[in-house]
Amino acid sequence: MSTPIVQGWCPGAFKPMMSGDGLVVRIRPIAAEISPIQAEGIAAAALEFGNGFIDLTNRANLQIRGVSTDNYPRLMDRLAGLDLLDEDPDNEPKRNIVLTPFYTENDLSHRLYQALLARLPDFPLFPGKFGFSIDCGPKLVLKDVPADIRFETSAAQGIIVRAEGCATGVEVSEAQSVDMALALADWFMKTRPDDIRRMPKLLLQQKLPAEFQGSGPADTSEQSLPGNINGGLSLAVPFGPLQAEELSKLSKLDTALRVTPWHALWMEGVDAVQNTRLISDASDPVLRVHACAGHPFCPQATVKTRQLAADLAGRWDGQLHVSGCSKGCAFPKSADVTLVGRDGTFDLVTNGAPWDEARQTGLAPDTLKELDLT
Ligand code: SF4
Repeated sequence: MSTPIVQGWCPGAFKPMMSGDGLVVRIRPIAAEISPIQAEGIAAAALEFGNGFIDLTNRANLQIRGVSTDNYPRLMDRLAGLDLLDEDPDNEPKRNIVLTPFYTENDLSHRLYQALLARLPDFPLFPGKFGFSIDCGPKLVLKDVPADIRFETSAAQGIIVRAEGCATGVEVSEAQSVDMALALADWFMKTRPDDIRRMPKLLLQQKLPAEFQGSGPADTSEQSLPGNINGGLSLAVPFGPLQAEELSKLSKLDTALRVTPWHALWMEGVDAVQNTRLISDASDPVLRVHACAGHPFCPQATVKTRQLAADLAGRWDGQLHVSGCSKGCAFPKSADVTLVGRDGTFDLVTNGAPWDEARQTGLAPDTLKELDLT
């Protein structure tokens, strides 16, 4: 199996990443929300400067892809006009925060988000993918979303600041929470060797000081599936790329769109949306299929992924992952069936992750629809 290139950093708006089809420009919505005007503006910008699609990422960000270097400055002007850029570009890489999409204005999660945002300049510049989650509703919804420092509801319904990789966190008051996160961040930065970039990896080789432990998190609640949840409607975007026309259509509903880390948009107070290709049925088989951008969008891919994934959806009850290479960006864990691109063909892994040993190798893409993958 070929070794994928680990970039070790995430693109931003100020620091776009060159991909197979042009620049990837990532927008990090403030408080996981875009207004109808911003949604319409992003849709128009994706059509005018990008490839007409907007990716929803697993850290609840939006990406405009396929941007030429000539168009990039004009796109940035447009995003600035929509109030979608950080005033200080240095804050952008630090603003790697996933906020529960189900907060209400000025509730505890929202207040902690605002407090953390205000103190970001005090935090060190972390390695590229290091980030926070804020999940302070009665039950946790972000347990499976990657983060390094978590603000969570404790089992006793207080607040804990928890290092990912440790089962417990330290109980804090609201006023103490950001200072505690800062202390934990400082410990991480001072303790980590240069090649360790994430908290869980550091905790495999360094004991977390007792001052950052003690209280367990609250129970979790599964909210990642689409449909009518939490007093609103969650619409899933198959595999993550959202057509600009669909986003434009949603902007006409005149309600804010919350970007979730589950490739879905959640709209408070909305029951149903007519004439959309987005998914509101939690039993839709496409929801059990995962696929990254693949060829020609990612330079590491030698195979097309998303059309194959769509063609294979519904053939199993279990999870299927079609990955452009062994890095496994779309679903970096074990699936029932994983097809991994390599040199224009696919390797088949069963009950494993893309980097695990393959059961069959060198499968031609046009044979996969006929293959018994069970
Ligand atoms: S898994 Fe897909 S998106 Fe990620 S590096 Fe490989 S080909 Fe690219």
